[in-house]
Amino acid sequence: MATKSAIRRRLSLQQYEEGIVSGQRTVLGQAITLIESTLHDDRILAEALIEKLLPRTGKSVRVGITGVPGVGKSTFIEAFGEHITSTNKKLAVLAIDPSSKKNKGSILGDKTRMETLSKNPNAFIRPTATGSSLGGVAGNTREAILLCEAAGYDVILVETVGVGQSEVAVRSMVDFFLLLMLAGAGDDLQGIKKGIMEMADGIVITKADGDNFKKASQAKADFQYALHLFQAPESGWKVNVELTSALQNTGIRETWETIESFTAHTQSNGHFVLNRQRQQLEWLHESFDQLLKEELLHSKKINSKLTSLQKKVIANQLSPSKAARELLNEVYKIHDGKS
Ligand code: GDP
Repeated sequence: MATKSAIRRRLSLQQYEEGIVSGQRTVLGQAITLIESTLHDDRILAEALIEKLLPRTGKSVRVGITGVPGVGKSTFIEAFGEHITSTNKKLAVLAIDPSSKKNKGSILGDKTRMETLSKNPNAFIRPTATGSSLGGVAGNTREAILLCEAAGYDVILVETVGVGQSEVAVRSMVDFFLLLMLAGAGDDLQGIKKGIMEMADGIVITKADGDNFKKASQAKADFQYALHLFQAPESGWKVNVELTSALQNTGIRETWETIESFTAHTQSNGHFVLNRQRQQLEWLHESFDQLLKEELLHSKKINSKLTSLQKKVIANQLSPSKAARELLNEVYKIHDGKS
């Protein structure tokens, strides 16, 4: 149940809507807190809010940014964000931090990151609340994108640490996926990066300055060669490798221009819209799966059946797939009893 203070912090649907539409950052922040809540009443309010704002969404360019810790993401986003906002655009940065769930610490949520950008009136930075499952975080981030769009943000960056499943989730909610890579980190062309490289619409080699410049240029040639071996993307887009230095502010403008070219290219060949439509359907299916599971596991009968099935599966008395079917039969039994 919601505590009194939790209820008091909520605004009315109209207050959220008006605050967001008029571009009030505090209200936008409060609305993101609302959509991150798992309380039933909050979910209903959040869904109503998204529904209201839907006609105002969809007009931004959604960019995913990933890279291993230390690759230079926050420094890059600072420089990149300053450039984007200097072109008269409003920028929102949403950060997903998969590490926060386990250790309650956070690689991305650290307040000292992106200090300059966080003071920029045309930028809004928001780390994802900790403690959620990746599925939950993905849903929340998708809704946060919509809220930021309704608040008039032209570019939404979704940042994640490149250490696992979260890239796949981010890929499924953005128009352009940017991979940040370090030259000479020993993993340039290794298998671990191949899957992620295949998801990328653009690759940026960071810290291409000083003594590192030569190594970075070599890495660029290597990546370009590796990309050449991949199957051509469905979008018909040719993936670009950019040398950048956030410290020297080189390659930053060019990276943004690449994204603009990509948007123009995919808008003219229909892929932009197609990709978004697919993402909408994926979101629908994921939401349905999640809701279904949550609803079913509310039932005591199903929960106790699940517990007994789990014991049998662990003891190897029942196969997991048979157990799943038995659980489903239990669901049907309850449903038939009700109807
Ligand atoms: P993140 O963990 O991916 O967000 O990486 P950070 O942005 O925090 O950067 C990690 C380290 O790399 C910091 O010490 C930065 O000062 C350094 N760094 C970031 N960008 C550059 C760059 O363009 N050139 C150089 N030489 N160092 C950089």
